[in-house]
Amino acid sequence: DKYLSGLSRSKKTFGDRLRALSNNFHGIDDELLEEIMILMLESDVGIHTAQKLVDQFEKEGKNIKNYDSMEDYLISILYDFYDPESDPQIRYNEDGPTVILMVGVNGAGKTTTSAKLIEYYKEQGKSVAVAAADTFRAGAIDQIATWAQRLDVPCIKGKQGQDPSSVLVDACRYAKENDIDILIADTAGRLQNKTNLMKELSKMNRVCEKEIPGAPQEVWLVLDATTGQNGISQAKEFLEATNVTGIILTKMDGTAKGGVVMAIRDLLHLPVRFLGLGEKPADLRPFDLNAYLIGITK
Ligand code: GDP
Repeated sequence: DKYLSGLSRSKKTFGDRLRALSNNFHGIDDELLEEIMILMLESDVGIHTAQKLVDQFEKEGKNIKNYDSMEDYLISILYDFYDPESDPQIRYNEDGPTVILMVGVNGAGKTTTSAKLIEYYKEQGKSVAVAAADTFRAGAIDQIATWAQRLDVPCIKGKQGQDPSSVLVDACRYAKENDIDILIADTAGRLQNKTNLMKELSKMNRVCEKEIPGAPQEVWLVLDATTGQNGISQAKEFLEATNVTGIILTKMDGTAKGGVVMAIRDLLHLPVRFLGLGEKPADLRPFDLNAYLIGITK
């Protein structure tokens, strides 16, 4: 299936090696734990999270007797560690448009992911519009407007340099007047000036709420999985600047660093909502922990 094949590159290091460990399994000993540790570090789980996981592996490892349960054991430790049941559902507005703010640094894949979300929600039969609220990066407005045209959804845009909040106000009003279910707002990805970013994001939040009570329902931070642990530091800066509600991990098709999912969970305490598996609008999958774990262990 596409989900698994998209993850195939990350599976080669993490999954195949986990399997090799399973094949040679002869009990939980220091050697095995060390191999698990190296494996985690190489797939960019990060030292902090890797250590916690290895402790868990050691603690629970006493019940392991054969190869089959070795795999189950790995999956169950990772599953319990992630604990998907503790995640809130995505908040959808029952009484009007749901506004989703997209944030993240330039190059992470924010605009492409916005296009993917347009496609995703259209497929679900929702009416979708997009706000080109990245008025800072040259070309950003055209880029999202082109996607909107191709995917046949309205794009509310301003001019480069315009206050992004005023674009958002227009977009929210448009969404209300035209029975739009999902409004995706592509915002600017500036991190260099954190005070500005904070001010800009809080203003965007404020104007959305004023137009549509409860909006934005979701604020999704787009992270490039290939940046591994650097992505985590970026994320922390955004978390300080605004109320991020979920993570979208892009470029999972081109990385051996899939373990970053575990680090995100451990260090940012946020749900991973979607994975990006390519450059096309269809290359987006809702994050499914079971599929992900099977992908990395099979
Ligand atoms: P933005 O600056 O954050 O809006 O980033 P863009 O959406 O322009 O994406 C930057 C580059 O990453 C583009 O070349 C995209 O095609 C590419 N990209 C985005 N998401 C993915 C993904 O999931 N997989 C791959 N392979 N490339 C991606």
